Amino acid sequence: MILTGKAKLAGVMGWPVSHSRSPRLHGFWLERHRIDGAYLPLAVRPEDLSTALRALPKLGFRGCNLTIPHKEAAVPLCDRLTSAAERVGAVNTLVVEEDGTLSGDNSDVFGFSENLKQGAPSWTRGRPACLLGAGGAARALIVALLEEGVPEIRVVNRTLSRAESLAAAFGPKVKPLAWGEWSAALSDCGLLVNATSLGMTGQPALDIELSGLPQDAVVNDIVYSPLETALLAAARARGNPVVDGLGMLLQQARPGFAAWFGVEPQVTEELRTFVLEG
Ligand code: NAP
Repeated sequence: MILTGKAKLAGVMGWPVSHSRSPRLHGFWLERHRIDGAYLPLAVRPEDLSTALRALPKLGFRGCNLTIPHKEAAVPLCDRLTSAAERVGAVNTLVVEEDGTLSGDNSDVFGFSENLKQGAPSWTRGRPACLLGAGGAARALIVALLEEGVPEIRVVNRTLSRAESLAAAFGPKVKPLAWGEWSAALSDCGLLVNATSLGMTGQPALDIELSGLPQDAVVNDIVYSPLETALLAAARARGNPVVDGLGMLLQQARPGFAAWFGVEPQVTEELRTFVLEG
């Protein structure tokens, strides 16, 4: 570890923040590239977010990541937003510019697309996609899928009104469907993505009938704990190509690291293993 008086500083703000894997992930890259810098966990209460963000330039920070519960609250606190952050309505990567102003980005959009491109290069964008969930992560996935040119996004959510709100926000390519309408949701799909918390360690199982899903459809679970979720195992067993969610977590970290520390980092098998072991 190199840490001099000129060290470049960044971190992750959340409440709580102790669960975050980001310090380990960025720490790996800092070490790998022999960078004089540090990436710190920053435990910031919701009521202190504005003060903490405004203090970043004064403390010499180059920026930070934002995690639960700060992603949406940070939007009005930024001086400018990328189109991804504006469309998602949430900021997870913040850069302190030379003049001390704050630029907000949402790199989950990039992370999701990049993970799919690497994990399933043959993914057919010309067919509908089925998206399970309508929470914060689902919004970023919709922006990414629309940017990729997917013709229809079927959003299946337990609370139908939340899926309907997404359709109202993102336009006619987004079709809301009630939970359990599996045959309508999956037929002709080129991609199925789980963006609910179901299947995550400690959460209820994701109970879905896959029989209507074309066998060449890519199945992606953005839940990465466990790495091989029951959904991915079931899809793999019936021959569908599968992509796990860890890659999204790693890929979304790249734009922030490049902006703060001046090096384009890579996602490698070694990094995957290192982050999983943490
Ligand atoms: P969120 O905003 O809280 O949304 C949770 C979603 O799960 C909602 O659609 C919710 O449906 C659904 N859900 C929860 N319990 C359910 C149940 N019992 N039955 C059916 N649906 C249920 O969470 P989020 O931020 O979108 O995150 C969702 C998941 O993605 C989490 O597991 C998170 O760890 C993961 N994630 C991964 C990455 C990555 O980099 N790989 C990035 C972001 C998030 P209702 O609307 O009906 O409540």
